[in-house]
Amino acid sequence: MGDLSKNFSRSEFACKGTNCCGHSAPIQPELISALQALRDQVSLPLSITSGFRCNHHNESVGGAAQSFHTLGMAADVDCSDGLTAEDLARAAETIPAFQQGGIGIYPSWVHLDVRTTGKARWRND
Ligand SMILES: [Zn+2]
Ligand SMILES: [Zn+2]
Repeated sequence: MGDLSKNFSRSEFACKGTNCCGHSAPIQPELISALQALRDQVSLPLSITSGFRCNHHNESVGGAAQSFHTLGMAADVDCSDGLTAEDLARAAETIPAFQQGGIGIYPSWVHLDVRTTGKARWRND
């Protein structure tokens, strides 16, 4: 049982930087509900490798300057056994907030965001 939704806890989304924001996790509720809908659909645990990043940490990992991670609107989701990045991206396309938002496909994870500025799709493989 998570403290944000059925399967997600705030700690999973905390900034992973050291000596920056003290692992804060200001995450938008829209992101959590979309991820929970995705989790329910795939019926497999989703592991969050990057959630919120403060500006300092975002800079140190070379993130895009206006990254949606710094707004608490993005998560990188690792693919578990039996689920490829393609599978996960295809499932995300059926969740309205991701369908209208951003979906980036990487070799072993998917970036998902709930931007409201128009959909974005990219791949990096
Ligand atoms: Zn930080
Ligand atoms: Zn990302």
